[in-house]
Amino acid sequence: MNIQYADRMNNLRASEIRELLKLAERPEIISFAGGLPAPELFPVEAMKVVGVKVLEEQGMQALQYSATEGYGPLREKIAARMAAIGVKATADNILITSGSQQGLDFAGKVFLNEGDIVITERPSYLGAIMAFKAYSPEFVDIAMDDDGMDMAELERVLTTRDRVKMIYVIPDFQNPTGKTWSVERRKQLVELANRFDLPIVEDNPYGELRFEGQRPPAVKSFDTQGRVLFLGTFSKTFCPGMRLGWTLGEGELLNKFVLVKQGADLQTSSLGQRELNQFMEDYDLDEHIATIREVYRSRRDVMLSAMETYFPKVEGLAFTYPNGGLFTWVELPAHLNARELFKKALEKEVAFVPGGSFYPNGGYENTLRLNYSNMPEEKIKEGIKRLGEAIQEMM
Ligand code: PMP
Repeated sequence: MNIQYADRMNNLRASEIRELLKLAERPEIISFAGGLPAPELFPVEAMKVVGVKVLEEQGMQALQYSATEGYGPLREKIAARMAAIGVKATADNILITSGSQQGLDFAGKVFLNEGDIVITERPSYLGAIMAFKAYSPEFVDIAMDDDGMDMAELERVLTTRDRVKMIYVIPDFQNPTGKTWSVERRKQLVELANRFDLPIVEDNPYGELRFEGQRPPAVKSFDTQGRVLFLGTFSKTFCPGMRLGWTLGEGELLNKFVLVKQGADLQTSSLGQRELNQFMEDYDLDEHIATIREVYRSRRDVMLSAMETYFPKVEGLAFTYPNGGLFTWVELPAHLNARELFKKALEKEVAFVPGGSFYPNGGYENTLRLNYSNMPEEKIKEGIKRLGEAIQEMM
């Protein structure tokens, strides 16, 4: 057989890291590797009731094809919730997608020709890098500090490079670093996008999982020209298995996404959308989110305090203190390699994601991401203790 694949397949290789992470799936491993929500918090009992009710009351519609844009009542509810972060929207502004991951693929499809530039944070979300790679772009990644993207560097790139086609950011509790952009940077980003006439893709799966402080307005809230697409999801606030997310935007821009959705899968599951909508009518989603927040905040506290206690106190070792979301981010002294550390940690039955894979242009092998949402507190403490020992042994 000599089957010829499309050129784009050359960009898509099974990452070394995915192979490594398969080793971390053994049940005895204390894993800080995935981005998995805590499954014990999924509303299983409520969804049993909701499932029966939807089938009894609207069974024929729930099992039928439906509109590409999504189920009206659910779109209305999502639009109303966006007011909390300063975004005025109606159901017409919402396209229901199969997770926000689908919105990322669509952004690549809608904006990127081969060789076009996509701007990302450095580091950025691995799943977005994978999604965009299928469209063979060039990645130009911009440095981050504790307030977000370095605006001077961004302006320099926008001034000196043609072929920039879109800017991709995760402004709230970023995956992988846990960092959140300041309000000022959000405004500046929109100003630059206006000046250079570019679309922004604002990816925000974690904003509602804030443990302390006020939720900042969305980048989208500063958009007066309809150039920001906001990607949201129920994966972290409800459950990821139903694959329910949304893209919020206006007019022609959103219509392009609708067109692409038609070709991709016609629509998101009618049944799933109606079940979520029914859950939101019969139960209190905000109360549910408050419970998730409490549990994750406590796990964050346990992880960070264990890191203070058990990580060696050496020059060059630093980690972020996230105020929400699922992750903290560690920088090791420059001479230490996190892939090597991974092997050592695995011997101690602890896993994490080496940070190098979050850099679209490589490098930064002295970084790693730790997830705290998926392990009970005793395991977090024990796992961090062992990881601290592994780091010590590498020094
Ligand atoms: N964006 C970011 C930054 C993420 O971390 C994730 C999930 N880990 C997604 C998008 C995709 O999530 P989903 O498709 O489940 O909505």
